[in-house]
Amino acid sequence: MRIREREAMDAGAVRRRNLSAVLDIVHRHGGVTRADLTRALGLNRSTIGDLVSVLAEHGWVDERDDVPRSGVGRPSPRVAPRDDRVVAAINPELDAIDVALVSLGGSIIARRRVPVDSVPTVAETVALTAQTVRELTVEHQGVTVLAAGVAVPGLVRRRDGHVRLAPHLGWREEPLAALLAESLGMPVAAANDAHLGCRAEQTFGAGVGSRALLYLNGGPSGIGGGLVVDGRPMDGAAGYAGEIGHLGIDPVGPPCACGARGCLEVLVSREALVSAVDLSHPDDDALELALVAAIEAEAETGPVHSEVARQLQWLAIALRGAVNLLNPERIVLGGHLAALWRAASAAQRSSLLTSALPASAADVRIEPAALGSHRLLIGAAELAWDGLIADPLDSIAPSAAPAP
Ligand SMILES: [Zn+2]
Repeated sequence: MRIREREAMDAGAVRRRNLSAVLDIVHRHGGVTRADLTRALGLNRSTIGDLVSVLAEHGWVDERDDVPRSGVGRPSPRVAPRDDRVVAAINPELDAIDVALVSLGGSIIARRRVPVDSVPTVAETVALTAQTVRELTVEHQGVTVLAAGVAVPGLVRRRDGHVRLAPHLGWREEPLAALLAESLGMPVAAANDAHLGCRAEQTFGAGVGSRALLYLNGGPSGIGGGLVVDGRPMDGAAGYAGEIGHLGIDPVGPPCACGARGCLEVLVSREALVSAVDLSHPDDDALELALVAAIEAEAETGPVHSEVARQLQWLAIALRGAVNLLNPERIVLGGHLAALWRAASAAQRSSLLTSALPASAADVRIEPAALGSHRLLIGAAELAWDGLIADPLDSIAPSAAPAP
């Protein structure tokens, strides 16, 4: 069956698929040799050479001579992504709209966090985003923005980027991606922020190589989650899987925005950590620095220690349930959960999984997100790159491609 399918595929389609595969590897690994590509794709050297040349002619990659790695033989040129084609990445939150320009290879070349005085409406988000993308483009002459991706703290229909519900932003049934596409004049995709954080960490961060991954994303809008099962994202029937923030932890706990009581996200809240260290509107990196500094400076009986200990106890209950259910090999903590992890003592860290079933927890490694406060923007950019990498020759206007 597979052979027949291959035979039926015309040569042009095979070539497009191979161009996409080469660009995808260059994107994910940041720069590879032709020999790496030959090995990874199982194609012969002349085919790889041809594909790389076509991508270079169309302005997607450069071939650069590197220093010889072993000191013998000729230097091996590296096929590296060019950084003048970018996508816009957007993350609207309660206190700010975060916008970045991201190049191939997941590099952020410009970022601006636009604070907002009150929770932004969709119309305000679209207007502020369009203005910020324009300003960043003017400041970075020579870059072309090809598409955009949005990380939304809420439930998003994957097919068309329609926001079903973002409870903390007060958004309900909003055609966010369509409105932004009209305003920016380019393709726009949107998805749940935690799913995108999970994807960013799996592609470039602490989850690389993990086939069974649980990602927990802590943000101003609560806690979300992303799952990787057998090496692939597990989105659920309609894209709404992973809402670990609404795992019931304490049946008599405080009420949650979802209508239930004692959900993980009301017990392990970013707001409580922010007020413990007395900051206003910090980003994740600032919160983490302040929390770790406060723990070092304060006596063990102090209020920051007790807030951290309280939150870690609730987090342990959620992780126990998740580990027993999923048996992940890695758990990656993002946002305020990474700050909590870095503020925890060695004893507190090792106690997080002691109540889980020993067999389920035996090989689990917990790590803070490696991409820090960039993770959601890099994940949103991945969404935007999907359509471009799928067909690199089709996704640029003929005028954008340099003449061969
Ligand atoms: Zn809830």
